[in-house]
Amino acid sequence: LFARPWVFIRGVPAMKFLPPEGPPEVAFAGRSNVGKSSLINALVGQKGLARTSNTPGRTQELNYFVPEGYSGDAGDLPPMALVDMPGYGFAKAPKTQVDAWTKLVFEYLRGRVTLKRVYLLIDARHGVKKIDEEVMDLLDTAAVSYQVVLTKADKIKPPAVMRLVEETREKMAKHPAAFPEIVATSSEKGAGMDELRAAIVRAVSD
Ligand code: GDP
Repeated sequence: LFARPWVFIRGVPAMKFLPPEGPPEVAFAGRSNVGKSSLINALVGQKGLARTSNTPGRTQELNYFVPEGYSGDAGDLPPMALVDMPGYGFAKAPKTQVDAWTKLVFEYLRGRVTLKRVYLLIDARHGVKKIDEEVMDLLDTAAVSYQVVLTKADKIKPPAVMRLVEETREKMAKHPAAFPEIVATSSEKGAGMDELRAAIVRAVSD
């Protein structure tokens, strides 16, 4: 599945533009600059798929990716879709933009039956911030299964990664919809990618 090329199929600025519910979906969320585009690119082994350094205009949309070669017609649906959610917590974002993010994301989380899991990305240098906790609360409220992925693990020493994994695991115990296992990754070094791919495949086959 991850060995074949993936393609961008649609940017969704509002609920009415969502593709019809079909294949199971896995979505990626995290603060701006957490390394979300890099992680998606590393997962599929394609540098340019999710644009690194957010393309203006695309940043407030749910971006859909599927493996290449499926027509999307009934009977020829892709086995799964990856959804790149707009980044949050950009310091200079105007309130209207924050409100738009919350509305789109909350409606998507609440309403999307085929959404199997959200991967919540946390920068290993910074750990879980208040705004991440707020998003976790949103996910708990929407009762969407989610799993924390630490990004940029190459930027801190291995013992510090292990400590952060433990700390984060303990934090997750308070969150009813959170998956207990934490995956530490480095898109740059490829660390944790096989583990994450396996977790995604399990999430969509549940
Ligand atoms: P996004 O805004 O969440 O999509 O973040 P990007 O993927 O654009 O990454 C933000 C910055 O972090 C870029 O400068 C990336 O090169 C850097 N970055 C992303 N992943 C890693 C990683 O695993 N290791 C290191 N060292 N840097 C990374």
